[in-house]
Amino acid sequence: MKVAFFSAKPYDRVSFKAVNDRYGHELVFFEPRLTSDTAALAEGFQAVCVFINDTLDAATLRAIAQTGTQVIALRCAGFNNVDLPAASELGMSVVRVPAYSPYAVAEHAVGLILTLNRKLYRAYNRVRDDNFELNGLLGFDIHGKTVGVIGTGKIGYCFAKIMHGFGARLLAYDVHENPDCRDLGMAYQPLDEVLAQSDIISLHCPLLPSTHHMINAETLQLIKPGAMLVNTSRGGLIDTSAVIEALKSGRLGYFGADVYEQEEELFFQDYSDRIIQDDTFQLLQSFSNVVITAHQAFFTQEALTNIAETTLSNINDVEAGQECANAVRPPA
Ligand code: NAD
Repeated sequence: MKVAFFSAKPYDRVSFKAVNDRYGHELVFFEPRLTSDTAALAEGFQAVCVFINDTLDAATLRAIAQTGTQVIALRCAGFNNVDLPAASELGMSVVRVPAYSPYAVAEHAVGLILTLNRKLYRAYNRVRDDNFELNGLLGFDIHGKTVGVIGTGKIGYCFAKIMHGFGARLLAYDVHENPDCRDLGMAYQPLDEVLAQSDIISLHCPLLPSTHHMINAETLQLIKPGAMLVNTSRGGLIDTSAVIEALKSGRLGYFGADVYEQEEELFFQDYSDRIIQDDTFQLLQSFSNVVITAHQAFFTQEALTNIAETTLSNINDVEAGQECANAVRPPA
């Protein structure tokens, strides 16, 4: 099948070309994000392969459907950027990569926790500056602390296992309980309780209307003073302005994020010689107890290979007219 890649980066070309030797699709890589403005690039391609910050709203879907695209292959797990009812009305197939490496994301969440707790970003710069002082670098033992896991699916469970290894007490909140998490000794509690008891709160649930801004001014009032919040899931889970207020008041002691609600304007691009116009982001990253990475939690060699393999296999299924196990459909 002819596949147009949007938001394509050098590492996408490498991982997809390596795996495509076995699939033989015709892959063309475009750097721009897919939006209604760039939809014309997809003309004549039966499939588009898109990532998290491409915009597949009704207008974009109509535009690419008119010029022959019938398959939306997401090379990611989340599909909140696709208007599924519109895709369904247009008879388009939407497929995704539900799991490629839960370890990658869980391990990155732990990386953020350790970076914030042990102030590794400061320590690194100090030592490079021949400053061997320890003042200002004091951390805490994770052993014996309470870690709240919000969303205990594949990534949440991997994360919980790592935290279990640290000797933390584990609390969980999810709309569905995971028996593996129970076996690990995790106690499921209402969200308010998890927020109130946890020293570290890590978000691992999807962005849905029901989870949008689940961390807001009201829920931040419930957290333990000085607690750490880590979000490697989706930016929209958090009301960033409320987090900024909680950081200013000291209620929130640390904030680590790999995602940001308005990230599509910033992430995956080099702004180092431009002026960032997003004041909220600039204020957020000015706090010394905040660490932000730019949606890199998934970014491991293993994950990239798995993403390429599953995406191309999904396209094969659709091309062969077979039922694809990774199809995404609008809610009934
Ligand atoms: P998953 O489907 O295995 O688990 C998600 C869990 O969230 C499920 O147990 C589900 O029951 C739970 N959930 C659903 N609604 C909820 C609610 N209202 N409150 C609490 N929990 C709820 O998904 P996963 O593979 O573990 O991925 C989790 C999220 O991680 C994804 O949705 C995605 O947003 C994010 N993610 C981020 C990156 C990254 O690079 N930063 C990479 C992959 C995934």
